[in-house]
Amino acid sequence: MGQDFPLSPIAVYLHNPFCLRPCPYCSFYRVAYHQKQQAEYLGLLIEELKLWKREIGRKISAKSVYFGGGTPALLTAEGINNILQEMHLEPDAEITLEINPIQITPTFVQELQATAVNRISLGVQSFDDEMLRLLGRRHHGSDIPAKMELLRDAGYENISLDLLYGLPAQTPEMLLTDIEELRKQKPQHISTYLLTLDEDSPMLQDIESGKIPHLANDDLAADMYELVCELLTGAGYTHYEISNFSLPGYESRHNLSYWHSEPYLALGASASGWLPPWRYDNPASIRKHQNNIRKQVLMPHKKRRQGKAAEEDYLMMGLRLTQGIDRADFERRFGRDVTEGREKTMGKLLFCRMIELDDNWLRLSESALFISNVVIGELMWR
Ligand code: SF4
Repeated sequence: MGQDFPLSPIAVYLHNPFCLRPCPYCSFYRVAYHQKQQAEYLGLLIEELKLWKREIGRKISAKSVYFGGGTPALLTAEGINNILQEMHLEPDAEITLEINPIQITPTFVQELQATAVNRISLGVQSFDDEMLRLLGRRHHGSDIPAKMELLRDAGYENISLDLLYGLPAQTPEMLLTDIEELRKQKPQHISTYLLTLDEDSPMLQDIESGKIPHLANDDLAADMYELVCELLTGAGYTHYEISNFSLPGYESRHNLSYWHSEPYLALGASASGWLPPWRYDNPASIRKHQNNIRKQVLMPHKKRRQGKAAEEDYLMMGLRLTQGIDRADFERRFGRDVTEGREKTMGKLLFCRMIELDDNWLRLSESALFISNVVIGELMWR
């Protein structure tokens, strides 16, 4: 990679796989928290950053840093500072930390203020205590206003809240209550997720054995998505990406790098990065990842994504944005207009009002957002 590494500042993702307790619906790579192992893993992330520094001959220059997980707030404020010291941060860099609401205490927030973290992503998921119990979350809906107050009093003014919907036996009325509670918190950003379960998740097994009720079926899920979009846009949020909403100017700059197919570096076990033309996946195993770093192997399992493959990645990511993809940018990257070779498919999708096309943009229509995978798939396989 060396001299091919992007010169301009890039987005950097760091994965911390430790969690205090596994949530029964989760399919991310995560391991049970253990203080000593967490400290060793922090050392590993720092080693990985130093290795990148040696590889490219300078510190990584970051325009955004995203601490995700797992539970990245377990890295502690001191650990976060130690990591950030190994990078060159742009003066206006967006530094996001995902936090579990139970971690927010006056002491935690005070320590956090000594770091460069300036954006918080809070895993609220729901305000309904029964839903939170089923999800294995340890906070209560009524805890959130005080947590938000602590963060705001400490000067955090860029807060994103996560909302899960399509939960076991959740009705539209229950979702409406959740959204109303969420709106009352006036976050700058909201990420919404339809709950889906992997085959081996404990929650799916509990549903199949009749222990807990079913998730929303496709029709109900579509109605719920519509409700989410309607209520959040009605409250002044811009629906800028299929599942993401923000107040003006508070879009996730880090995630925009993904959706614009800009390069990003990913560090830590199970993290995936994009340094054109390479996509790489770090192994979903701390031990294997550690072996790689010790042997000075960066970008294991890398795949070259060029030509048609890069074009497909670009469409897959860019069409998630409601503004769509910039036809001029597509042409600059791939040497031809996005419609070329797709005339028949696009004609069909335009006729069905699944896409919109003007001189500058190609985008999914509003009614296609919920079934985006199907529509984007059509455009990819033309
Ligand atoms: S949902 Fe988050 S906190 Fe829960 S197990 Fe998964 S990564 Fe850990």
